[in-house]
Amino acid sequence: MSAGSVRVYADYECDFSEDVDVVVVGSGPAGAVTAKELTDAGLRVALIEEGPPFTPQDFEIDGAISMARTMREGGLRMTQGTVMPTMQGIALGGGSLVNSAICNKAPDFVLDDWCEKFDLENTTLADLDPHYDAVGEFLGIAPTPEKVQGRRNLLFKQGCDALGYSSEPVLRNVKGCRGSGECFTGCRTRAKQSMDVSYVPAAIRRGALVLTSARVESILNDGSKATGVAGRVVAPFTGRASHRFRINARAVVLAAGCMATPVLLEKSGKLANRSGQVGENLQFHPGVAIMGVFPEDVHPAFGATQGYQSKNFLRDGYKLETLWAPPSVLAVRLPGSGMAFKNRLADFARSAIWDAIATCNRSLGRVRTRSRSMTPSLVWRLHPEDVRILTRALWTLSEIFFAAGAKSVVSGVNGIPDEFFSLDEARMLTEHPLRDRDLVLGGNHAFCTTRMHGNPARGVVDEYGRCHDLRNLYITDTGIFPQCPSVNPMWTAMALAHRSAAHISAEL
Ligand SMILES: Cc1cc2nc3c(=O)[nH]c(=O)nc-3n(C[C@H](O)[C@H](O)[C@H](O)COP(=O)(O)OP(=O)(O)OC[C@H]3O[C@@H](n4cnc5c(N)ncnc54)[C@H](O)[C@@H]3O)c2cc1C
Ligand code: SF4
Repeated sequence: MSAGSVRVYADYECDFSEDVDVVVVGSGPAGAVTAKELTDAGLRVALIEEGPPFTPQDFEIDGAISMARTMREGGLRMTQGTVMPTMQGIALGGGSLVNSAICNKAPDFVLDDWCEKFDLENTTLADLDPHYDAVGEFLGIAPTPEKVQGRRNLLFKQGCDALGYSSEPVLRNVKGCRGSGECFTGCRTRAKQSMDVSYVPAAIRRGALVLTSARVESILNDGSKATGVAGRVVAPFTGRASHRFRINARAVVLAAGCMATPVLLEKSGKLANRSGQVGENLQFHPGVAIMGVFPEDVHPAFGATQGYQSKNFLRDGYKLETLWAPPSVLAVRLPGSGMAFKNRLADFARSAIWDAIATCNRSLGRVRTRSRSMTPSLVWRLHPEDVRILTRALWTLSEIFFAAGAKSVVSGVNGIPDEFFSLDEARMLTEHPLRDRDLVLGGNHAFCTTRMHGNPARGVVDEYGRCHDLRNLYITDTGIFPQCPSVNPMWTAMALAHRSAAHISAEL
């Protein structure tokens, strides 16, 4: 094996095989941390990623083109039931390439709930803190400094302060952020410490073999243990399959994301599914966004993409954030057509857009496998109680906008007026009965499809990510969360992966 190297699509000339100690599938936050920690422990590791690597020259700031290149199904993957788009990365670095770098530890009350409901003994905040901190130190996770906040973020703070709601600069995995607001299409200054510029290079330096444009299609096993993985080389952006590969390993780690890992298990002979929980329990933090129009320019394109947040309402089921993305992507939420739509676009320079994500443990779905495709089919329904929580969150954001001096808010909600000019008018948000289809939803945080549970009859993995059914098969992506973490999931996924890696290396 040629250790300590990365292969890209042009490097593959024929079928091939490799022998390693551990093969890790997926290079997102969970897989990248797992691979780096295992190489640090002296193990020979292969990290396999279906997507290509991106350099700053490869990033497209046009939202639609960027989504087509960096996200599965062009960023338009949808749930059925309640229809909601869910963006999932396909790139070296997974979702970290296009995410906003928001880092939050899961609150202690959430982790205590996980432990109690899912028979977990060692997953309190005190248990995970050393792992959160190790990752935090490696990535330089720190509060967003004021100089790169921009007006859009500071107005949020101003509104929260006026109402007595707590708010704070977001902790992010960035080094030298310039506040360009481009996290969604890839950080061209490489300030964002996405996995492709942090954990993956560190793994390569310690000897890992990284295969990009390589899609794992099955987990090899002899009935009692996993023996490796097999798959095909795939062309970037088209997915056209060519050479075959096989990686033999003493342990297999799946970190392909909570929508791909269940498909891989199912296509490998319904592996690790004695509990019947593989692909079940799909959960999201569905999000809603709202635009406030101010009397003067806000210049919303400047500022850390999501630089401010409020956890004031976490126990009520929602978290508030500032937001930026390419205007063409944000405009999807704008009501109206023709001249009215054109005028709303013209308002953009005087606007700020803020969002809420909700803890929706009642809103459940599942991932299903299609017969001749690795693309999952998703079913998920937003529970009526969670519709109420999301509309409550929109009301709170309206309050904050008006407290910050907005002259109107554009809710983007069907069935009520497009724009409110006073808080009194906005009250309709809480008074008018709304249905799931009235909200313009997005759900980029997804979890729970291979959930951890202390009882092997009720979960797929234990709290260290080890499959109850196959002792050398591990899962570290967000599928192992037993419930919503209530805050942005990446840091928790990395902390759990950091802990799992220690267990895997101790076992081998
Ligand atoms: C636009 C956007 C913004 C977000 N913002 C934030 C944020 O600011 N903070 C936060 O905490 N979270 C954020 N998230 C969510 C966060 O990025 C994800 O929760 C996180 O990336 C999940 O990590 P993961 O390792 O479980 O999976 P992923 O990041 O999805 O990584 C899985 C990887 O596996 C690869 N893969 C899949 N199948 C195969 C296969 N068969 N063979 C080989 N490789 C495969 C995929 O291509 C992918 O690269 C955001 C997500 C999006 C899309
Ligand atoms: S705001 Fe701009 S500079 Fe800062 S991390 Fe995001 S893309 Fe990079």
